[in-house]
Amino acid sequence: MRLLRHEWLDLARKLDWSYSYVQERSVFPEAISGRPWLEQAAWEDWDEPYRTSFGEYVSAQHEKEASIVAVREAVGRVGDFARHDRAWLSALKLHGATLPLAEFAAVIGNLRAARFGRDGAWRTMAALGALDELRHTQIPLAVLHDLVAWDAQFDFTHRLFHTDGWVAIAARHFADELLLGSNPVEFAVATNFVFETGFTNLQFVGLSAVAHAVGDRMFEKMVQSIQTDEARHAQIGGPVLRKLCEHDHAYAQFLVDKWFWRSFHFFAVVTGFAMDYLTPLPHRKQSFREFMDEWVLGQFERTLREYGLARPYYWDEFLASLDYYHHQAYASAYTYRATMWFDFTLPGPEERAWLAEKYPQSWPEFAPVWERISARWQAAGPDVEWFTHGVTPIGFCSLCQFPLCAGTPRRNAARVVEHEGRRLIFCSEPCRHFFEQEPERYAAHETVVERILAGKAPANLIALVRDYFGLSEDLWGKDAVHGRYDWLAGGAAPGSAE
Ligand code: MN
Ligand code: MN
Repeated sequence: MRLLRHEWLDLARKLDWSYSYVQERSVFPEAISGRPWLEQAAWEDWDEPYRTSFGEYVSAQHEKEASIVAVREAVGRVGDFARHDRAWLSALKLHGATLPLAEFAAVIGNLRAARFGRDGAWRTMAALGALDELRHTQIPLAVLHDLVAWDAQFDFTHRLFHTDGWVAIAARHFADELLLGSNPVEFAVATNFVFETGFTNLQFVGLSAVAHAVGDRMFEKMVQSIQTDEARHAQIGGPVLRKLCEHDHAYAQFLVDKWFWRSFHFFAVVTGFAMDYLTPLPHRKQSFREFMDEWVLGQFERTLREYGLARPYYWDEFLASLDYYHHQAYASAYTYRATMWFDFTLPGPEERAWLAEKYPQSWPEFAPVWERISARWQAAGPDVEWFTHGVTPIGFCSLCQFPLCAGTPRRNAARVVEHEGRRLIFCSEPCRHFFEQEPERYAAHETVVERILAGKAPANLIALVRDYFGLSEDLWGKDAVHGRYDWLAGGAAPGSAE
């Protein structure tokens, strides 16, 4: 007798049984399965809309792989990438280095849920999620590997997370907690619900639209293909969060608040730089702020309401930071470009006019920063990188490990706190707040500055970059055209009165 799909599917994807010779609490210990700990019966109604079997998964994924291979053969060679603007290549280097190895950490988080998730269907989806994340690691590593011989900065696609550069330290601090250190309940809320439902559309749908405009079909195809997987396994988050809201509403709110804040900093740098600075002006569609409004804010607020959750308590501060944070971070990063593995562009008069129009509230505070940098390039002439480069190490947040960029050029948002005899500094009030909620998770971690003070890292910036961050002079970030901008050679810097 042949069974129809709906007759066998639940046996294949949602198989749970009662234990006769062992306690359920021993099979799923709270410490590794997460809290609140509930009997299996309480999870029985767990469901998600994709309802996929392993066989269906394998054939759908096979088609996606075949189509990536076809695009790679047509437009994925070194010569195809060499046609792109240098600034766009920097966006690829930034995305390429920060995402693929974090995706590999997500394999581990999913595998933990595939064993310790509390419902059979949840475990099945997490097992498929782990396979998804493995291809999200392998595809960019494979595509960008060919470029290493042509441009050695692409080596950081694989190398970044194995270095102690400040970006790697910040990215690991975030990704290790999000993907490696969380139990399946926190993983489902933090990764599947907040990160994947809330934010990955921004990076993968938003940036693929930009890639389309730029004419980078390989990158467009790659991130689109990845996003189709994210959209599926992100569905794990909702039903877990719903259960959490029923049984421990305060904990649900805490996890959402914490992970929204932490994820925002990550995306503000990775997506914010790409959209507002590294995409060549003629190809820009929307600003980072407009993308956040369209792809994140409305949808996220609506979803929170559906779960009976409130907006995070720092919402006003968060909205204000959409006009500032990534601009502060980019100006800092440009000024310390030798600490990174990709090159930076100086926004010229047309870019600044675009930014002024998109950020009428905050840009007047940033324009003078770029006027000053332009004036120094003019004074020094092309190729004199160090004349527009910072020379002393800067401060980093004791929670997020990013530079202290959460204020505005006029208002310092940093918070200093005494913790067990140590003076800690936080970029913002929410970073302080989340540290103090779980100090046992974070207190042992040292910022770059603490490593320098402890004699573990050199204080001299060049020694720090070379010996500790793992960047040699041929690899570290420079101005993309070494200061040879037509508009800069032609006379006064835009807006400067001299
Ligand atoms: Mn992924
Ligand atoms: Mn994912």
